[in-house]
Amino acid sequence: MKCRVGPHGVHVFDRRTGLNVLFDEVDALQTEWARAPRQVSIALTNACDLACPFCYAPKTTAVLDVARLCAWIDELDAEGCLGIGFGGGEPTLYRRLPQVCRHAAERTGLAVTMTTHAHRFTPQLIDALTGAVNFVRVSVDGVDATYEKLRGRPFAELVQRLTQIGQTFRFGLNCVVNADTLPGLDAVADLAASTGAAELLLLPERPARGRPGTSPHAVAALHQWITNYRGPVVLTIGEGDSGALPTAQPLPSETGLRAYAHIDAAGTVRRTSYHSAGERVDDRGVLAALDRLQQKGIA
Ligand code: SF4
Repeated sequence: MKCRVGPHGVHVFDRRTGLNVLFDEVDALQTEWARAPRQVSIALTNACDLACPFCYAPKTTAVLDVARLCAWIDELDAEGCLGIGFGGGEPTLYRRLPQVCRHAAERTGLAVTMTTHAHRFTPQLIDALTGAVNFVRVSVDGVDATYEKLRGRPFAELVQRLTQIGQTFRFGLNCVVNADTLPGLDAVADLAASTGAAELLLLPERPARGRPGTSPHAVAALHQWITNYRGPVVLTIGEGDSGALPTAQPLPSETGLRAYAHIDAAGTVRRTSYHSAGERVDDRGVLAALDRLQQKGIA
């Protein structure tokens, strides 16, 4: 269990189960509030062996140094962060991935998650990550031919990987939603239910590399689909994509950089991976870079 003090009281989090408990009767002084964001995503490398059409990951070569990375993880843990999410590029292409996950699991109280295409989740990698990763997010934007067209890998292989991942880790599916993938959402939700996924994260496509992103019409259709969904899988959506949907907001004063930040594979901290403004994390550490970012008015 890890405790985080903030404007809403004391937040207790269990990384093994994902359980959150908020003691909102505790009125903590502002000087006691955690300084780190609640969650930080970290792109370990820009490398990826797929070529998805909607990919917005930078295509420049960049990879994080393992010693710097472990120092940042320690700092975030000490300053009240609850969890880190590794991504990329493809995080399983980061050679020291098991070492870094094990460092976080054994030396800190942080929850470790990662976002992956899953095709490199061999039994050997699963063994190496067992006990060191709390949640795996697998990118799946359609089934059968839709999946194979977008990701360029056999759908049957994906299902096999999901089965193997589900035997060891809690996991969820991440689905990029656009006009092409919208008609297949029922099938993706069915896949999530049949493979035992704990949640389905819906991600409207962002404008990038000359692609316009999901149209307002498709976003409205997505919101309608969410409203009508009656299946067993928990649906989640990003803070900025929820529109008028009745989402749970247990910590309304803990938003912006208090809630979330992203560190890219070049070592620059940003509000999210979609924001262009950033601050390089230098020897002064992540919190100092976040302070400089805040001073720029990026909250
Ligand atoms: S798997 Fe992810 S990082 Fe790789 S190309 Fe596809 S969207 Fe980009």
